[in-house]
Amino acid sequence: MQIYRNTVNGSLAEPVSSHEAYNPATEQLLGMAPESDEQEVDRAVEAAAIAQKSWAERSDQQRRDSIHEVARILEENAGYLSELITREQGKPLSGPGSIFEMQACVGWTQVPASLELEPEVVYEDDERKDTLHRVPLGVVAAIAPWNWPLMIAIWQIIPAIRMGNTVVLKPSEYTPIATLEMVRLINQALPAGVLNTVTGDGRIGSKLTHHPDISKIMFTGSETTGRRIIEASASSLSPITLELGGNDAAIVMPGTNIKNIATDLFWGAFLNMGQTCACIKRLYVHEDDYETVMTELSAIASEMKVGDGMDKSVTIGPLQNKMQFEKVRELVSDAKTSGCDIREFGEPPEKGYFMPVTLVGDIRDGQRLVDEEQFGPALPIIRYRDPEDAIESANRLEAGLGASLWADNPAEVAELAMQLEAGTVWINQHGAIHPMVPFGGNKASGYGVEFGLEGLKAVTQSRVISIKK
Ligand code: NAD
Repeated sequence: MQIYRNTVNGSLAEPVSSHEAYNPATEQLLGMAPESDEQEVDRAVEAAAIAQKSWAERSDQQRRDSIHEVARILEENAGYLSELITREQGKPLSGPGSIFEMQACVGWTQVPASLELEPEVVYEDDERKDTLHRVPLGVVAAIAPWNWPLMIAIWQIIPAIRMGNTVVLKPSEYTPIATLEMVRLINQALPAGVLNTVTGDGRIGSKLTHHPDISKIMFTGSETTGRRIIEASASSLSPITLELGGNDAAIVMPGTNIKNIATDLFWGAFLNMGQTCACIKRLYVHEDDYETVMTELSAIASEMKVGDGMDKSVTIGPLQNKMQFEKVRELVSDAKTSGCDIREFGEPPEKGYFMPVTLVGDIRDGQRLVDEEQFGPALPIIRYRDPEDAIESANRLEAGLGASLWADNPAEVAELAMQLEAGTVWINQHGAIHPMVPFGGNKASGYGVEFGLEGLKAVTQSRVISIKK
């Protein structure tokens, strides 16, 4: 049986202990996933701290070259890693699935490697010149979730190492294996200690984020854990980038041509079986368009094949884990008992954490499936009368990650877009992230941004050199 290992200081670590990891589609054993203890966290942070000095001393060009080499290794191993993602996380190989996740990993590696963050003269007169430089922070603790395990780890790792930091990454306890394999492979392009992993649940995450030698925490996950991370940062005064949960609203403007947008709406909601932070989780449609929206989305949903994503004709895989499977089913069953219009599509296999693609109509604000982040393939579709009411509904929750407006003429909604309380407001698209465009949440969806130059700045501290002339 395959035994997977952490990478600490450039070498594969003998597992302290291990647990069996299963494929969520077939319930078959995938292999043994290692679990770190507190001593392994100490070893990983120490290795990262030692490596950081010489990594930061390398020229910027040398670090960029190493990162381009990382991108090459990711491309070369994309087939192997995408199959492992499908077998561990569940998203299909096809469509916006695991092959797409690997392509994103490559893109989000190449782009930070190609960006320039030059020192900036912030003030100059006859008497003085002040220049702002960006210097590394030190060791970055990266804590990742289970929904896009490799892509989100790459979002955390690459900007950090690009700017001269080193990293200790803790993947989610639900999806450690593909991430460990990716880290093992890309370590070939990096000096020992620059990128390390530890594994385990929140206790190991907590040990890592409380470690006194951590200088920055990058966290992606739930709001509850996010609050614990903030508490943990108090001991080391580490700055944090917090990417938390979302409950994104999409609002379709009255009279919009639904046929034109139905496919994008569908995938905006059902990407990765809805287990995506910035997915459409509440769809607001004008009462006159409601039936058309239900009909068009039903037509698309009925074409989906639900099953094991290793089969290339499958477009909808299982949920990743039992906890999530039960949570989403409970929200749908709550909607069923309150008389909502439930339409289910696809024939889920008996085994595995499969759910049908579920559209839920005749539902209102205040019901659990609307107000709670479902993180699964069940979309509530809510009628509105006045677009201003839909904006108010969109803003009434604490989450503020993304939102979208859909209209035949995008110019018509430009002003409304500014009223939506979200880190990104998309028009005629949803979740359309890009490695050059800053991404982050408003309100309870977190703070700080990733991607682009802003993302690079977030893994540095500023140092001003002020010269008297
Ligand atoms: P989670 O908060 O349960 O776990 C995330 C990570 O935190 C895991 O690695 C976990 O082991 C670790 N952790 C748990 N307790 C910890 C502690 N006390 N200290 C340190 N680490 C700890 O989240 P999840 O269920 O894995 O992910 C799903 C959530 O993530 C959803 O709410 C989703 O919307 C959100 N998410 C947000 C983004 C974004 O970019 N904003 C992206 C993906 C997912």
